[in-house]
Amino acid sequence: MKRILIAEDEERIAAFVEKGLRASGFTTTIAADGDTAADYARTGGFDLVILDIGLPGQDGFTVLRGLREDRVSTPVIVLTARDSVRDTVAGLEGGADDWMTKPFRFEELLARVRLRLRTAARAPEVTVLRSGDLSLDLRTRRARAGQTSVDLTAREFVLLELFLRHPGQVLTREQILSHVWGYDFDPGSNIVDVYVRALRKKLGAGRVETVRGMGYRLP
Ligand code: CA
Repeated sequence: MKRILIAEDEERIAAFVEKGLRASGFTTTIAADGDTAADYARTGGFDLVILDIGLPGQDGFTVLRGLREDRVSTPVIVLTARDSVRDTVAGLEGGADDWMTKPFRFEELLARVRLRLRTAARAPEVTVLRSGDLSLDLRTRRARAGQTSVDLTAREFVLLELFLRHPGQVLTREQILSHVWGYDFDPGSNIVDVYVRALRKKLGAGRVETVRGMGYRLP
């Protein structure tokens, strides 16, 4: 049975999430502050962490950064208030796998939980994705473009992974947003373009093609 840590200080939300997860067959533990959450998560006894950003003690960002620095690779789904999404995007370079904005429907959270658990279980099977002389090691999260080895941020990694799983295929901004950011982001946001530019800068300008009026493609 999969064990999920719920780091959430609002009792109402913690109880709502716990009830739903238990009904879906998961074992749950609640941590109501950041220090407890960090201690529990470090035990390695959890398959996934649901992490509120606004926690007493260490906030969610600090907890997450600490875990990743200590090489705790448990999948983390962050919960954040809608009005702080932009801060969250910046803060998540610390290594979250996904996030949800409050308020959310339980079914939506459950879908993300299942997806992340599946992805985590599958990760060891395929370790390197390739297209031409571009490759991405899913374990070390390092890319290679020709002879050059490239370090990626967490989001850049997910973005490149998406491209490498669909070589030659045009991906729309909406598809990229929903996959990489997992959230119905402001469609007017230019975050996809910003990250594509960052990838090009690291990998080489011709690595990601713009398909006018449609989106982006790995040639
Ligand atoms: Ca909170």
